[in-house]
Amino acid sequence: MKIERIAVLGAGTMGHGIAHVSALAGYDVTLFDITDEAVERGLEQIRGNMDKGVARGKLSAEAMEDGLARVSGTTSIEAAADGADLVVEAVPEKLELKRSLFQQVQGLCTGILGTNTSSLSIARIAEGLDDPSRVIGLHFFNPVHIMKLLEIVVFEGTSEPTLEACRAFGASIGKECITVRDFPGFATSRLGVCLGMEAIRMVEQGVASAEDIDTAMVLGYRHPVGPLKLSDLVGVDVRMHIGEYLAKELDNPAFEPPELMRRMVAEGKLGKKTGQGFYDWS
Ligand code: NAD
Repeated sequence: MKIERIAVLGAGTMGHGIAHVSALAGYDVTLFDITDEAVERGLEQIRGNMDKGVARGKLSAEAMEDGLARVSGTTSIEAAADGADLVVEAVPEKLELKRSLFQQVQGLCTGILGTNTSSLSIARIAEGLDDPSRVIGLHFFNPVHIMKLLEIVVFEGTSEPTLEACRAFGASIGKECITVRDFPGFATSRLGVCLGMEAIRMVEQGVASAEDIDTAMVLGYRHPVGPLKLSDLVGVDVRMHIGEYLAKELDNPAFEPPELMRRMVAEGKLGKKTGQGFYDWS
């Protein structure tokens, strides 16, 4: 299973990052989204992030040029997936959307079908496909060009060659790969969201301020960023939805979003993206 051509579906936060690291590693990448604007925005963000890399001395101008020459954008899923050895979907976290995209691309190429889902069941995404052994979770972290981790998620149907090819792909783009079974929340979201929910309950109970709880974890436990600031960076709404899903799937009230979180989401205090969350980002 040799990977040369990659199709990335969805040019948003994660999609453009996955295209960026793949192109720099020498793969031919096609970035697909539903509108010209979304494709253009994704390509622009790749250019902008690579520019910053050059300015910081992390990337040579030549490597940037070579990388950019290997990425193209399209609004045609047929053009994107045609002959792809690896398809990575990074569209919104909706099961039906992810399933329908894989249904569409399965006949357009024979390559691996990777999903960047942060919580959904890989088995359910693979359900109904002609060859589910091609399906695997490739969970990247934000920002993709900086974060070292690639969480590879296998369900019982994922074939060994699919897993091996993805491990080799992860290493080739400079990621440290971990392999996790298809369990709700995998290894990352399950632990991270649990900590986040407990920290919010502590703010709610008046144990300490958000700043002091974050400082406790940063200085006391050497976390690079505290759980409340991280919730602001990920999006309070995004974390709330993952929490709701995990509370149900794992039948564990520890994941149940606290009242304070629900209130913040209702008031539009979603974190950095709206200027207000546990911190003031304005
Ligand atoms: P995003 O909203 O930034 O980007 C999604 C993109 O998908 C948008 O550009 C949108 O136009 C496009 N899209 C919508 N419908 C489409 C379709 N039918 N075909 C093609 N493109 C379509 O979302 P994101 O934050 O990049 O998240 C994408 C996936 O990655 C989700 O499954 C999410 O759970 C996962 N994820 C996100 C993060 C994060 O920190 N944001 C981290 C890890 C994993």
